[in-house]
Amino acid sequence: MSHSGAEHWNQWAETLNREELDALHLRRLKRVLDYAWARSAFYRQHWQRAGFHPDMVQSLDDFKHRVPLTDKQDFLQMQEDFPPYGPTVAVGAADISHHAETSGSTGLPLRIPFTDYDTERYGESWIYGWWVLGIRPHDSFYFAFNWGNYAGFWSAYWGVRRLGATVYSGGGQTTEQHVRNILGLKPTVLISTPSYALRILEAAREMGIDLSASSLRFTYHAGEPGPCSLASVRRKLDEGFGAISGELLGIAEVDAVAPGCRLRHGVHMSEMSNFSWSMDPRSHEEVADGVIAENVVTTYANSAQPLINYRTHDLVRAYNRPPCGCDMTWRYLDGVVLGRSDYMVTVKGTNVYPAAVENLISDVPGVSPYFQLILSREGSFDELLIRLEPDSHISSQEWDGIAEEVVRRIKDVVGVRLRAEVAAPGSLPRHDLKAERIVDLRRDEFRRELDRQGGQ
Ligand SMILES: [Zn+2]
Repeated sequence: MSHSGAEHWNQWAETLNREELDALHLRRLKRVLDYAWARSAFYRQHWQRAGFHPDMVQSLDDFKHRVPLTDKQDFLQMQEDFPPYGPTVAVGAADISHHAETSGSTGLPLRIPFTDYDTERYGESWIYGWWVLGIRPHDSFYFAFNWGNYAGFWSAYWGVRRLGATVYSGGGQTTEQHVRNILGLKPTVLISTPSYALRILEAAREMGIDLSASSLRFTYHAGEPGPCSLASVRRKLDEGFGAISGELLGIAEVDAVAPGCRLRHGVHMSEMSNFSWSMDPRSHEEVADGVIAENVVTTYANSAQPLINYRTHDLVRAYNRPPCGCDMTWRYLDGVVLGRSDYMVTVKGTNVYPAAVENLISDVPGVSPYFQLILSREGSFDELLIRLEPDSHISSQEWDGIAEEVVRRIKDVVGVRLRAEVAAPGSLPRHDLKAERIVDLRRDEFRRELDRQGGQ
C-alpha cells in the first residue's frame, strides 16, 4: 500500500459519505455481536438476561436502542471476582499479546488485554491524526512519557511502528534530560501529555534553551485537554516549540478513539475502528447533531475484551456530518471532551462538572497549567476551591485580577460563583496526569470513615 502524496493515511475510508459509513458499520456491528455471543460468557449472559439476541439487530437504530449498554463498572467487578480478566475475555490466554491498564484515577485500574490484531488496529487509529498534520514515515518520534502500564502511550508506540517511523523512548527520565535528548537525538515529533510538554518548555527556558529552534516540527498530545480542545494550549505549544501541535482523544480500554482534525478545533472519531453515537445520559435516547450528550462507543479494535454499546461517560458535542471544514467525513467532536457525565458535584445547588471547570481555567490568559481543584464537603454541600498559579512572567499586582477573571468565566458558563486562590508561581505540584489535579477531600473523608468502621 502506498500512501505517499495522499492527504490521508487511508484516502478512501476517510472520505466515504455518511450513508456508506453507516452501511459499513452495520455490517461490522453484526459481526461483533455474533463474535461476542459466540465467545464471551459475559455478553451471552448480559444479553440473555435483557432478552436480547444478535438477530434482533437489522439497523443502526436497532443497535443503539436494543443492545444492552455496558459500563466500566461491569468489567471492574468481574475482574475483581474472577482475576485477571473474568468472563469478559473472548480469546484464550495464549492469544493475549499485551496487557495494559487504565490509570485508575477514579478507583481501581481496569485490566485491558490485547491480541496482536488489537494492537495493530489501536495503533493505526493514531496515524489518521498524524498524517493530516503532515507527519510521514520519515519522521522520528520522541516519547516524553513514563510508559508504565498505561495503554495510551503504548498504543502511540504501536502507531509509530505501523507508520514505519522511528521511535525514541524517553521513559523514566527527568525533564532536563528530555530537553537534552531532544537536542541530541533531533527527533521531529514530540509525544507527551499537553501539560508535560508545557513543563518541558518551562524547564528548557530555565536552562536557557529555546526549543522553538530545535529539530521538532510537530508535537502530539493525549491524556488531557490539548491543542484541539483549548486555543490557549494550542498557542502556547505552537509558539513554544515552533511546531504544529495536535491532539488525540484516547480511551484506554477502547481505542485511540478520536484523532485530531487537521483544523484543530476538535477531533474525528476513528470510524474504521469504532462506532459511536450520542446518548442523553438520563433518558438514554439518541440526541441530534450538536447537542451535548454522552459518547457511547463500540470498538472493532478490541477482540480480546469486546466493548459493545459501552458508556464512556464523556460529554461531547458530536456531529455525524462534520461542520469543521476539513474534508474528513468521520464523526466530529467539537472541542473534544467537554466534561464527564459521571463525575458531577453539586455546589450551591448547581450541578458542576469539574472537568468543564478545568477547561475554563486552562483558557484564561496568564494562568499556568498547574492548578488544583479541591473538593470538600461543608455540611451536606460540596465546596469547590480553585488553587491556581499565574504564569511566571505575570507580576504579583496582576494576580488578583487573574483570579477574578477565572471566577467570572466560571460564573458565566457554569452559573456558580466558586472561590479562587492564587499560589506563588512554581508552588503547586507538577503531575503527569490530569486526574491528579482534582483533589477530592470528600473521597478521603469517606475512606477514613470506612477505615474507622473497619477498625471497630
Ligand atoms: Zn475536520
